[in-house]
Amino acid sequence: MKYSIIIPVYNEELVIRETYSRLKTVMDQADGSYELLFVNDGSQDATIDILKEIAVQDRHVKYLDFSRNFGHQIAITAGMDHAAGSAIVVIDADLQDPPELILDMIEKWKEGYDVVYAKRTKRKGETFFKKQTAKMFYRLLRASTDIDIPLDTGDFRLLDRKVCDQLKGMKEQSRFVRGLVSWVGFKQTAIEYERDERLAGETKYPLKKMLKFSIDGITSFSYKPLKLASLLGVMLSAASSLAILIVLYQRLFTDTTTPGWSSLLLTMLFFNGVILIMLGVIGEYIGRIYDEAKNRPLYILRDSRQSEHESDVVTRYAKFK
Ligand code: UDP
Ligand code: MG
Repeated sequence: MKYSIIIPVYNEELVIRETYSRLKTVMDQADGSYELLFVNDGSQDATIDILKEIAVQDRHVKYLDFSRNFGHQIAITAGMDHAAGSAIVVIDADLQDPPELILDMIEKWKEGYDVVYAKRTKRKGETFFKKQTAKMFYRLLRASTDIDIPLDTGDFRLLDRKVCDQLKGMKEQSRFVRGLVSWVGFKQTAIEYERDERLAGETKYPLKKMLKFSIDGITSFSYKPLKLASLLGVMLSAASSLAILIVLYQRLFTDTTTPGWSSLLLTMLFFNGVILIMLGVIGEYIGRIYDEAKNRPLYILRDSRQSEHESDVVTRYAKFK
């Protein structure tokens, strides 16, 4: 198998046929065998029925069917676990990432690059809020980590088999795939594109998922939020020492007794706020350590139609038929 295309799908009944036919048209032009590996992330609509229907007609189409919604990043991971190709492409199902770009990625891959990621120069049809928060997130992430995670780049990318194999070896639960890909290294390059509008339906990334996704991204690759606790501590202690000196001076050498109730209350409230926020930050990390310690499978498959070579991934997931 030369090329594997991984498509995570969650409630995409409106777009999935069109996505399939666009991908098929593109991949039929590629110079080798290919598989279209759909990962159904616990859709509640007719997505899986449509997938099964397509899979019967076209032997290129394979699918993994999750027992429930495990999330976009886990769906991509499952796809990588089961992909058989020498080059693996991850693409969204909603045609925001143009499938035609895959051919350009393949060209770059043939030139010898191991990772070809697609960088968004423009995003169409997304809300101002989404664009701004995404922009902020990518910059914050970059500022807080030491590894070189490219700006404005999603999971739409091509990976060489050896990069994919490295990713398969990473067992972490809170997965931030694009960060892991940067972390792995090898020869990486970008191609630029304008991100289209979603073909139909609405985003499957509501604010809650976006928040989890960004906290996962930052905590997986950075201790800076934890270090912030010490930094804040030092700064606030310094400020308090100064305040103590002033208060002592007033008490001992002047007659002005400070009417202190409001200032006392204000400082207490402020410091308590800071302490709780920092406890929350520490909690985020502890929660993730707890998740890792439980060592549960990343996902559970209810059903699948796939290639034969899976004995090596059996430990990664539990399978019920
Ligand atoms: N997706 C998924 N599981 C989820 C949420 C999303 O597999 O829990 C898939 C979705 O079907 C799509 C891709 O991830 O193929 C990106 O989602 P979406 O287009 O809704 O995100 P956006 O482009 O709005 O950031
Ligand atoms: Mg989208």
